[in-house]
Amino acid sequence: MNQTFVVTPKTGPAKARAADRIRGFNEIYADFGPVAGVGQSSRCAQCGVPFCQTGCPLQNNIPDWLRLAAEGRAEEAWRQVEATSSLPEICGRICPQDRLCEGACTLEQAGWETVTIGSVERWLGDMAFENGWVDPIRPRAERGASVGIVGAGPAGMAAADRLRSAGYAVTLYDRHDRAGGLLTYGIPGFKLEKHVVQRRLDRLVDGGVEFRLGVDVGGDLPFAEVRAAHDAVLVATGVYNARRLTAPGCGSSGVIAALDYLIASNRKGFGDAVPAFDSGGLNAAGKRVVVIGGGDTAMDCVRTAVRQGAASVTCLYRRDRDNMPGSAREVANAEEEGVVFEWLAAPRAVLGDARRVTGVRVQRMALASPSADGRWSVEPVSGGEFDITADLVIEALGFDPENLPELFAEPDLALTEWGAVRTAGHTKATTLEGVFAAGDIVRGASLVVWAVRDGQDAAAEIDAWLTSRQRAAA
Ligand code: FAD
Ligand code: SF4
Ligand code: SF4
Repeated sequence: MNQTFVVTPKTGPAKARAADRIRGFNEIYADFGPVAGVGQSSRCAQCGVPFCQTGCPLQNNIPDWLRLAAEGRAEEAWRQVEATSSLPEICGRICPQDRLCEGACTLEQAGWETVTIGSVERWLGDMAFENGWVDPIRPRAERGASVGIVGAGPAGMAAADRLRSAGYAVTLYDRHDRAGGLLTYGIPGFKLEKHVVQRRLDRLVDGGVEFRLGVDVGGDLPFAEVRAAHDAVLVATGVYNARRLTAPGCGSSGVIAALDYLIASNRKGFGDAVPAFDSGGLNAAGKRVVVIGGGDTAMDCVRTAVRQGAASVTCLYRRDRDNMPGSAREVANAEEEGVVFEWLAAPRAVLGDARRVTGVRVQRMALASPSADGRWSVEPVSGGEFDITADLVIEALGFDPENLPELFAEPDLALTEWGAVRTAGHTKATTLEGVFAAGDIVRGASLVVWAVRDGQDAAAEIDAWLTSRQRAAA
């Protein structure tokens, strides 16, 4: 029976106890079993105007797949899921659903608690892989044209999936030795186990997508050569210029950038030799750790530090809990794992000397007034300074785009005023003929689900552009 929300309470998937999960890097949530999956799907009220769908950047056909899942028609539900998304089981795991589909769900708004959309999506996706419902990529015909994609993160992967399925020869270039972008080297295993990313990459390889890894475009390989080798190019390079602290003392050797820290930890998880980790520089074991920032990256750092055996972990954020950019679910998970949050606290100086950090001087802040982005601005509280002892300070202050016109030696590649690649409306076309762009390099640091949406949209635009060129040439 559908629409059982009046009698069936919302229940999430089983979650490992904090004391157990901090001993490793495995995902903390389990999949639904069949009874829970069907039962939770049946809570959907099948709204005539499904706000959940509006809240999903992919406009996933959520009510339809929830209805099919509730009727026990899991494979048909899966077909609906995969129709609009190249990485559904990944989005089901790491979308901040409270701000997207589930936050918009009518039941949530009416006080009945949301349908657990993300967990159902993940459950259907994992079941699809286990049961062989995920079809291999087998284009009906080859199109006789090739597309080079720079960046093998979720935007590049989604575009590669769609373009190869449409019959284009696709080459993915990435400067890292493994593909996946931040899914592989940024996001820790406790949110997204690596085999979940790998099976998607394997499917691309099996479908004929060529990977050229360890190739820094603009460095090892001129961008002009990539353009010359393909009929169209997609730039999906993400944003990697880490914003750094400018406070006194921040040049000390115990102050590190969040992504360096997370990449080292993820590499250790793959079994790689990481000298900077083994020497202690990028390892939190036994240390008093302070993480500065309030987004997803900061949450991943604090929880990684706990798992590495830090003596203590404190997160400093200059606004309050309600104004944090990070997911509320991840903050709650971090708190359960023993992380201490200092809200309304901004770093004033890093204490110690060039060789060793001893602490952070902190300025207590107060909310001042709401700002244009919906979050409150803050101001210092008079006399509100205090010190926190620290051996390791991790900066997680966000990322800006690299200077791509300079890196790619393409001065005509236009940027937005804050350095992202400028694209024309919905076409994803840049100011360079035959060059398109998608994901964080266009939006700025964003979300995986938006990267997937952009990659899929870019693939459709590239297909339309190449098709019209082929027709004109015929
Ligand atoms: P990326 O994933 O950054 O991939 C870009 C790829 O391009 C990389 O592999 C890079 O090596 C490659 N590249 C860059 N320059 C070059 C070059 N010159 N030559 C060759 N290759 C190049 N989002 C969520 O939705 N949920 C989360 O829980 C979440 N957690 C996050 C945690 C962290 C620590 C971080 C940093 C981000 C998180 N995000 C999360 C955001 C999300 O990961 C990004 O929005 C998303 O990965 C962007 O996808 P992308 O494909 O545009 O770029
Ligand atoms: Fe929700 Fe993300 Fe899935 Fe969309 S892709 S339905 S926002 S979990
Ligand atoms: Fe179902 Fe909620 Fe979407 Fe309505 S808004 S269709 S109840 S998931």
